[in-house]
Amino acid sequence: MSSLEQLRFDNTYAHLPAGFGARVAPRPFPGARLESVNPAALRLLDLAPEQARRPEFVAAFGGEKPLPGMEPFAMVYAGHQFGVYVPRLGDGRALLLGQVRNAAGESWDLHLKGAGPTPFSRGGDGRAVVRSTIREYLCGEAMHGLGIPTTRGLCILGGDEKVYREEPERGAMLVRLAPTHVRFGTFEYFHHTEQQGHVAALADHVIAAHFPHLSGVEGRHARFYAEVAERTARLMARWQAVGFAHGVMNTDNMSILGLTLDYGPFGFLDDFEPGFICNHSDDRGRYAFDQQPRIALWNLACLGEALLSLLSEDEARATLGAFQPAFSAHFLAAMRDKLGLREARDEDRALVGDLFSRMAEARVDYTRLFRALGRFETSTSAGPSAASALFPDPAAFTPWAEQYRARLRSEGSVDAERRERMDRVNPRYVLRNWLAEAAIRRAEQGDYSEVDRLLEALADPFTERPEFEAYTAPPPSWGRHLVVSCSS
Ligand code: AMP
Ligand code: MG
Repeated sequence: MSSLEQLRFDNTYAHLPAGFGARVAPRPFPGARLESVNPAALRLLDLAPEQARRPEFVAAFGGEKPLPGMEPFAMVYAGHQFGVYVPRLGDGRALLLGQVRNAAGESWDLHLKGAGPTPFSRGGDGRAVVRSTIREYLCGEAMHGLGIPTTRGLCILGGDEKVYREEPERGAMLVRLAPTHVRFGTFEYFHHTEQQGHVAALADHVIAAHFPHLSGVEGRHARFYAEVAERTARLMARWQAVGFAHGVMNTDNMSILGLTLDYGPFGFLDDFEPGFICNHSDDRGRYAFDQQPRIALWNLACLGEALLSLLSEDEARATLGAFQPAFSAHFLAAMRDKLGLREARDEDRALVGDLFSRMAEARVDYTRLFRALGRFETSTSAGPSAASALFPDPAAFTPWAEQYRARLRSEGSVDAERRERMDRVNPRYVLRNWLAEAAIRRAEQGDYSEVDRLLEALADPFTERPEFEAYTAPPPSWGRHLVVSCSS
């Protein structure tokens, strides 16, 4: 374990050739204080928990007194937002403080979100409000707990500065961690400004740090693109399998490492609704839940175009052509795990499809249904299952249950063993919007205890713990269909 002063900061991104962004001093909050800290993220930096309680911690990460080696830097990028190309976006309210290498040899970008205006703020104030900060902080940990690649939240910092949205609100800052914050849109920016040399420099920077097996290899850029597409396909399969809708899959929010990045108006499914739209501003449902894999492919095509100075059109086409089969294979594998199936059979796709139709028809709660399926009994004399009880009309579930029972019996499935396996992939706790909302309402009054409790529950979403029982409930009436806007 290290102390703050022992952290070795560097900022390799800020040392790339001119044109990758701008050095910007963060604007600390008056009265800056620590509101919540994520013990798991501290461990990633080899920091002992008591380090976070030191005033120096807030001063260092809140921008007042940067640590040696930190070089706060706003990254430039562009992106397709709702299908329309926006030539210049960039870190408008976040700064890359630098990278820390931990004892395990991993390098972590530390990014301070809400640090004040930058040359990329486009008139915005560079700040973030408590609500969006908490949502990102909690969801990063929820996704990590689910085993889904994501950025992580290190801590939330508060202060005495008001931020003006529709009305004055409390401001907050999030310190987040990721192996890199490079996005599809970073490549698009250099390509569309005709800086092909920078496209190559960026690709080789990312390859050196994150795809070292491709470093210096002939044809590396085509392979790099193919690996990004493969990671993206895997990420989409994980999102679809767990019932997560990102809400703003613009290319500037797509991580080059296939991480879940930039949590805005995301939502986990409550009732299963394939066309679920979690983003209030998305009237046409471009980013609806069931559109995500298709949009990921569209976004990969934008990335492919941005890489055309480094690879051939045929190579780009081959990668795009491989996406759908890769996604399907990953998704089906994930669904087999969720159903506790050990063998892969041709009829599995139909079995999964039929279950989804019935769930959609009856608007069954997604998370509860899969968890309940772990209690399914293969004995033909078994009574009604916990899963069937989630259907308003249990008879709507019976035909599927019979198929499922026959399928399980034919592979000699053992109830107790299968349940144990299924409980490790079907979460008991997910960050439902209403849970986030309840924690936010208290935090806005200055009480972060519910944020801390939720963080603890979500860090291990598979283990049933009586103290967190309330988190398994479907939303109360006030928490149904909460509208989440982009305003953050
Ligand atoms: P997002 O939708 O949060 O991914 O942000 C899209 C773009 O808007 C990014 O370039 C952000 O940096 C920028 N942005 C969002 N909110 C603000 C803000 N309050 N101040 C300045 N820039 C912002
Ligand atoms: Mg973004």
